[in-house]
Amino acid sequence: RVVMANSKYEYVKDFERPDPLLPNTWVIIRIDGHGFHRFSKVHEFEKPNDARALNLMNAAAKAVMSELSDVVMAYGDSDEYSFLLSKLCSLYDRRESKLITTFASLFTSYYLYYWSDHFPTPKPLYPPSFDGRAVLYPSDQNLRDYFSWRQADCHINNLYNTTNWALILKGGMTERDAERELMGSRAADKHEILFSRFGINYNNEPEMYKKGTVMVREPVKDEENGDAPSLLQEHGATMGEPERPKSNRQLKKEAKKQAKKEERQVKTVVRVYHCDVIRDEFWDARPWILD
Ligand code: ATP
Ligand code: ATP
Ligand code: MG
Ligand code: MG
Ligand code: MG
Ligand code: MG
Repeated sequence: RVVMANSKYEYVKDFERPDPLLPNTWVIIRIDGHGFHRFSKVHEFEKPNDARALNLMNAAAKAVMSELSDVVMAYGDSDEYSFLLSKLCSLYDRRESKLITTFASLFTSYYLYYWSDHFPTPKPLYPPSFDGRAVLYPSDQNLRDYFSWRQADCHINNLYNTTNWALILKGGMTERDAERELMGSRAADKHEILFSRFGINYNNEPEMYKKGTVMVREPVKDEENGDAPSLLQEHGATMGEPERPKSNRQLKKEAKKQAKKEERQVKTVVRVYHCDVIRDEFWDARPWILD
């Protein structure tokens, strides 16, 4: 080692495990609420879909996206959110634990920060938390299939939950009876139950419930403003790499480079959709995502 050890104890640092994610592959970081079945009961979430809770998840996800400009798009439903990092992303040198823990804690922190905007109590009755994982996808098809998988999951769960809670809340069934009624039922059966017994046309349910939420970083159109600075940026902080001390010469060089970069850079804005991501249309309209 070139650098001299600060103390005889420093060797313990070498016990740390290097954990860089494979280069040149798509990275998905998915966070999921811990024990939200319980959390949603305690906070009296409306069943099957509490719009306040979904809007809070979306607010937290949007804040994470505005802090971490490496996030290309995100998809969320229920108590989970998936964030996509580009193949070339070098945030934290692609260190897996650094990435996962940063996303999970930043998301949790914003979930609490925005809580009172969405719920009547000034703070949650007990602390919410989110776990996280990273998954790598080598091909564009794998990546698209990932988002298709999450959106299909959202759809299947929502159709089940909507029918289940109609039987309970409108049909007066017990939770057990409703579960028994739906055992082995197919999608068409659930549509039929909703329509014939409760006059609900599933297709008219809110898009956010049926399709989940999609966030995409998009270039702004002429005359349009880009996203406002994030909360951290407003306070002169970022989630990026910590600054190392630099020489004057280096600083001048970088200032020039930065000015050039800004000239070239297109302003971007995070847009929110509740659209289909399974068919080609979404991807064809946004070629820069898979580029
Ligand atoms: P785990 O810790 O393993 O993730 P969990 O209890 O969070 O356990 P999930 O499979 O993640 O289980 O499911 C989340 C649960 O949270 C849903 O089943 C649902 O009951 C509840 N939930 C999440 N968001 C909402 C919402 N917007 N409205 C109503 N209920 C919700
Ligand atoms: P990184 O994101 O890489 O961890 P960092 O800025 O958090 O970067 P650390 O090496 O973790 O760098 O150091 C944390 C810094 O936070 C300390 O150097 C110190 O300046 C500041 N700090 C932390 N706790 C306190 C405290 N109780 N009182 C004053 N300063 C503190
Ligand atoms: Mg889980
Ligand atoms: Mg959960
Ligand atoms: Mg979940
Ligand atoms: Mg630190």
